[in-house]
Amino acid sequence: MIPPCCPGCRRTIQAATSTVPSDPAPPRPGDVGICIGCGQVMVFTGHGHVKAPSSQEQAELARDPDLRRAIQTFLDQAEDSP
Ligand SMILES: [Zn+2]
Repeated sequence: MIPPCCPGCRRTIQAATSTVPSDPAPPRPGDVGICIGCGQVMVFTGHGHVKAPSSQEQAELARDPDLRRAIQTFLDQAEDSP
């Protein structure tokens, strides 16, 4: 199987970590992730593969306060990195 890669920066995705301590399961189809390399939001599609969100998914995700908070956390950490 070809390892999945970020649709933004093409880095190979080697691991995914849940941000929900009560649900540490691996990502399921439809779950959303953020690439730690470039901040690309991606949607898990099954068998560990990911895709960039469709325009409809982007519109839905833009209204998700948890995702907006996660993206802001990524951006804050990226600014703090040397
Ligand atoms: Zn990336």
